[in-house]
Amino acid sequence: MRVLLVEDEVRLAENVRRGLNAEGFVVDVVHNGDDGLFNAEVNDYDVVVLDIMLPGLNGYEVCRRMRAARVWTPVLMLTAKDGEYDQADALDLGADDYLTKPFSFIVLVARLRALIRRGGPIRPAVLEAGDLTLDPASRTVRRAGDELSLTPREFGVLQFLMRHRGDVVSKTDILESVWDANYEGDDNVVEVYVGYLRRKIDQPYGRHAIETVRGAGYRLEVGGG
Ligand code: CA
Repeated sequence: MRVLLVEDEVRLAENVRRGLNAEGFVVDVVHNGDDGLFNAEVNDYDVVVLDIMLPGLNGYEVCRRMRAARVWTPVLMLTAKDGEYDQADALDLGADDYLTKPFSFIVLVARLRALIRRGGPIRPAVLEAGDLTLDPASRTVRRAGDELSLTPREFGVLQFLMRHRGDVVSKTDILESVWDANYEGDDNVVEVYVGYLRRKIDQPYGRHAIETVRGAGYRLEVGGG
């Protein structure tokens, strides 16, 4: 697993690099936004850890330009509590997750692993199944042109189903992708969320996009139901 760490605080960057190495990650460290953008565009990383306040291009600008250049490597942003920007900005600008400084190293590693599991390095800007669309960058879902309001968990389940549209996915697949790796509850929670989703994306439109495949899991119809 190859990580690009863009962080101008040299001591912090070095500590994170050492810790990630010990966890089996290969880490490239750069200390300004311009080098971050350059590396993200020319190399293949599984994930980019991007500080916001950086010399040269700031983290938001790096993320925005990466996405504009169609580089879909998952990005985890490091935000400061008293920063000029907040987490919502990070997600709006195409980051996949964020951590507020100071952060726990254990949490950082868990989040990076989750991001790597969740997203391949290449993904379309917008996922489509008929007139159902999901935009991971802006975190919006539309059905027949209407913008739907989904909770983060509903969004995660739908995103997973849409990434695997046409394929049968098990409850365990969904649970492992959308819930924390340490989640110890029962996988019936997936059924509950599929029910919530059906009430938002299917029932009001008379559709049946999410099919239950008995004994196996669920399949999202390629045509959107
Ligand atoms: Ca900084």
